[in-house]
Amino acid sequence: MSQAAPTSMAPTAFKLSGLCLALGAAAAGVYVAASDTMLAAAVFVLVGLGSGVAILYGMRLYRPVPAWPWACLSAACGAFVGGAVLRGWVQDSAGTSSLLGDSFTIPGYVLMFLGLGGFLASRTGARKHALIDGLLVAVGAGLVFTLLLAVPAASIGGRPPVVSALAGIYPMLDSVLVLLVLNLAFSTARRGPAYYLLMCCMALMLTGDVAYAVIGTTGELTGSPLLDLPFLLGFCAVAAGALHPSMVDLGGRADLPVQAWSVPRLLLIAPALAAPFVLAVLIRQPSLVDRAVLATGGLLVVALLLIRAVSAVQGYVAAQHQYEYQATHDPLTGLANRALWFAQVRSMLAQPAPPGVHVWVFFLDLDGFKLVNDSRGHGAGDEVISEVARRLSACVPPGAAIARVGGDEFALACQARHDEAIEVAEEVLRTLRQTLRMPTLNVAISASIGIATSANMAGGATAEDLLRDADTAMYQAKAAGRDTWVIFDPVMRERVRERIETDLALREALETHQFELAFQPIVRLSTGRPVGAEALIRWLHPERGMVLPTSFIPVAEESGLIIDIGRWVIHAALRQLAQWREAGTVDHGFSMSINVSARQLHDPRLPADLGAALAQYRVPPSVVTVELTESVMIDATSGADQVMNNLRELGVQLVVDDFGTGFSALGYLRKYPVTGVKIDRSFVAGLGSNTEDEAIVRAVVAMSTALHLGVVAEGVHDERQRDVLEALGVRYGQGWLWGRPATADAFETMVAPTITA
Ligand code: C2E
Ligand code: MG
Ligand code: MG
Repeated sequence: MSQAAPTSMAPTAFKLSGLCLALGAAAAGVYVAASDTMLAAAVFVLVGLGSGVAILYGMRLYRPVPAWPWACLSAACGAFVGGAVLRGWVQDSAGTSSLLGDSFTIPGYVLMFLGLGGFLASRTGARKHALIDGLLVAVGAGLVFTLLLAVPAASIGGRPPVVSALAGIYPMLDSVLVLLVLNLAFSTARRGPAYYLLMCCMALMLTGDVAYAVIGTTGELTGSPLLDLPFLLGFCAVAAGALHPSMVDLGGRADLPVQAWSVPRLLLIAPALAAPFVLAVLIRQPSLVDRAVLATGGLLVVALLLIRAVSAVQGYVAAQHQYEYQATHDPLTGLANRALWFAQVRSMLAQPAPPGVHVWVFFLDLDGFKLVNDSRGHGAGDEVISEVARRLSACVPPGAAIARVGGDEFALACQARHDEAIEVAEEVLRTLRQTLRMPTLNVAISASIGIATSANMAGGATAEDLLRDADTAMYQAKAAGRDTWVIFDPVMRERVRERIETDLALREALETHQFELAFQPIVRLSTGRPVGAEALIRWLHPERGMVLPTSFIPVAEESGLIIDIGRWVIHAALRQLAQWREAGTVDHGFSMSINVSARQLHDPRLPADLGAALAQYRVPPSVVTVELTESVMIDATSGADQVMNNLRELGVQLVVDDFGTGFSALGYLRKYPVTGVKIDRSFVAGLGSNTEDEAIVRAVVAMSTALHLGVVAEGVHDERQRDVLEALGVRYGQGWLWGRPATADAFETMVAPTITA
């Protein structure tokens, strides 16, 4: 049965547990009514054995982990029944029957201790304070049992000493029972019906034992059969507990921390503490044994209280340390967190430094970490971060402050001269460049470092300023090709400000319709006739005039606004194409190319959005071409490959833009469902004069033919380039030779005569 079984079985389980209690109550009724007859004895045996079986059934039903403590409790039921039967049936005066009974009952206790101990041991949550409190109560109870019950019972003469000794042992066993039960009670934070039923069983057993012990002080070894009633009820309680789904919680770990101090706990401990004093008063003429027992008990209580107090203080201090550590450190790497690091840098800034020495702050961001995280999983990502943290800690100069300030971002700070600081950056880069060999993977990684120094700040540089500037410089290091360092320059701050402003302005542009599409024809080289158009976005800024995409698309990419802008482009381009198709401006094979940036290709909603737009404007997917950049295919692991596949399934064409400028690899073209390539204009520019460019174009054509991909050449300026392209086997072109990107109206006049011709 699975873990979920208890919940799904809950109704039956409640019925089972309740049924067991009802049967137990009925049996108890019969037992009392038929007191002292064979029927009563039979009922007792039946209930005892039945409980043992019920526990086994409960184990089968709920599969508790661990199961063996329950098995012990089941066996204990059997042993107790055996003891009771032998004690009742073999009657004699010398107490041999009692001895026979003990030979079952005492192992029964041991089994029960094992069971309860098993529950305790399987709880890692069992705490020292719970053990001490249990011991305190056990000592108190032990004192009461020993002085009031065991000592008098053991000192009764006229029977074999072993019988007297054994009669005195039961109260001691009960002390152990008290200890275990209280420990169980103090170390659990989850108390279900099974817990309460088990506690009920233990309380009943204790009552039964105390009753026997009280009779035992008079020299009796057996009494009224009604004395066994608590045991009978105890059997029923433990069986009902085992049949309840919450029985699995007994050996389970507590989810919540257990309170070391609580009112119920104090109420339980207080009488135990008072026991030695109360007993000292109660026992009128204490014997030497009584005094020795009292003194030992009293000393034990005091010692336990001392240990309790000391361990409470230790625990508090440890918790305080732990809390402070957690509040100031990164849990994954153990490095300082931002708050602690700022404090460290502040104290560095406050320290007087020799001339030429300043505080240097390094902001470090791993290159390509996202790729590792996305492709190998977060576990691998965590491994990389931990290893990087270890290496950093090992290679920074002594006294440097080092922190993890973000997912794959670290901050270092130290006091150094200019050349020393540069050496630190170089050393960090060198250390990280070495392949990270970890148990589960090997990863090549590098970092980009931005550096800021208090030397460049007139007057009070703050730790926050330094980190912010180093962060800004880090972006420059990324832009400069990664795996390098860049020192902050105030001009960079200006650039960041511009970016933020551009982002805000772009949001406004989207809302106030400042975007427009320009269209540039794509022609068949042999005829010069347009077969399609590329939609190119323009930003008509109210003050700056027309802004070209190269200056705002990267900003929109970074902020994520490109998703909304891209959606606008799709709609505007398809709406225009639909209009032209309807008006007959273009024929039905005329296609529209739409540029899609990397960020858009990571958006899983793109295919559905495009599909909806196609349906809305009733444009067949075959006349729409999505232009993507090569870089997308390099890290297509993060879902972009799925988006590409979905786009292809939609039926649109997929073309690699600016082909040849990125990491052009044949493998990518085969791996992803692209339908064509657009040769970058840098290769077209040299055609007719540069033989290398010619060779490249020839290779691209050969490769595309082999892979059945279409080829378009971009940036064609003159007839010579066109002729070379045609001679090399390229069939389509785009460029100023045939027309610059133009407004929709201008485009219509540009293509109308040729297309209808
Ligand atoms: P692209 O997709 O490679 O677009 C071609 C670029 O080359 C256009 O620049 C176009 O005006 C220019 N061009 C066309 N013919 C010639 C020529 O004969 N000579 C020269 N020198 N240039 C030519 P534009 O419009 O400034 O676009 C630049 C880039 O911005 C585009 O490169 C494209 O990557 C991106 N872009 C444009 N519109 C969008 C858009 O709607 N969404 C996205 N995500 N990116 C866009
Ligand atoms: Mg393009
Ligand atoms: Mg291009």
